[in-house]
Amino acid sequence: MSLIVQKYGGTSVGNTERIRNVAARVARYRAQGDQIVVVVSAMSGVTDNLIKLAKEIMPLPNEREMDVLLATGEQTTIALTAMALHALDIKAVSLTGAQAGIRTDGMHTKAKIQNITPKRIHQYLDRGNVVIVAGFQGVTPDGHITTLGRGGSDLTAIALAAALKADLCQIYTDVDGVYTADPRIVPSARKLAEISYDEMLELASLGAKVMQSRSVEFAKKFGVVFEVRSSLNDNPGTIVKEETKNMEDVVIRGVSLDKNQAKVTLVGVPDKPGIAAKIFKTLGDAAINVDMIVQNISHGAGAPATDLSFTVDKPELLKAQKVIGGLKTEIGFGEIISTDKIGKLSIVGVGMKSHSGVAGRMFETLAKEGINIEMISTSEIKISVVIDLAKGEQAMKAVHAAFLGC
Ligand code: ASP
Ligand code: MG
Repeated sequence: MSLIVQKYGGTSVGNTERIRNVAARVARYRAQGDQIVVVVSAMSGVTDNLIKLAKEIMPLPNEREMDVLLATGEQTTIALTAMALHALDIKAVSLTGAQAGIRTDGMHTKAKIQNITPKRIHQYLDRGNVVIVAGFQGVTPDGHITTLGRGGSDLTAIALAAALKADLCQIYTDVDGVYTADPRIVPSARKLAEISYDEMLELASLGAKVMQSRSVEFAKKFGVVFEVRSSLNDNPGTIVKEETKNMEDVVIRGVSLDKNQAKVTLVGVPDKPGIAAKIFKTLGDAAINVDMIVQNISHGAGAPATDLSFTVDKPELLKAQKVIGGLKTEIGFGEIISTDKIGKLSIVGVGMKSHSGVAGRMFETLAKEGINIEMISTSEIKISVVIDLAKGEQAMKAVHAAFLGC
């Protein structure tokens, strides 16, 4: 007998028919004698709609009340899922985050889990119940309802799997697993049988959103092995786990394209200590997230100057321009050139650590396609380039073919 945590996302519980499908799947596992803890999200669209309602009342609602409101989405789903199991004659009980013993800090709308006391869950399991827990929510030591940030049901599932020492943690979603590239852009993309936590985190942060990053970090920290799979079929999904030696045999695990960045270049920035600090501190203070940074060598003998480029999230470009514009006289740079017509193409793989020539091969592939590289950044397991947005998908296909075949 195994203890299995299954998490179903918003689309997997998007209507009552889908909830019945979830119940049927749980029933099949139950028939094998396994103990099942089910974590559910709000039905798709519900959380967005609750946020919309709140904003109709006032633009900046009180965050404690926001959490009371948002937690109702998941509370609806746990009850309906329990009923769907009852309809199949299966013993099931629903628990809110608080009832399940999920304690958090008091940072409303983005609370952190502090500890989980799963005593009640164990009691219900031992009495033969399927236990259905509301994702995305917890309670402070003082009894206030909290939520864990958008996409937080993933975190609930991973944290519960750790606390319950579950044998298996399955994250059910509307895709079959993690792919070598977005199959909508690269038709030859393949589903991965396995991927390491670090690769998954890099791909997630590069825009290949399958799961909330925080929950992958949590899984890595506590060594929770999990599987991402579809709730719409029975295909095996992708196992996410700590890197193993044979994972390095594959040079590249995946390719991703982030179309959501913009590039800002400051021309003729004085090349002296403290200038970069000033620029990026100011951006940071304005809560603007900077990703890549490239600074050229300086030119000019008397008062050396350099060009400095960086990327920000596309929706923050205007704000970044304004913030930087405010520094123009103080710092004394030439002009600001910016564009949102860029794409960031990245290749990710732990195999890079033990294979050489990976960057050269990527750049050569782009050269053959006549694609100019505007910026480059690398980490131990990732190489990213900024290129013309119009050529992004062409570049992605070519690089995927070069490393992962067609
Ligand atoms: N319902 C929440 C959201 O939409 C949590 C989740 O789905 O994981 O963000
Ligand atoms: Mg979700």
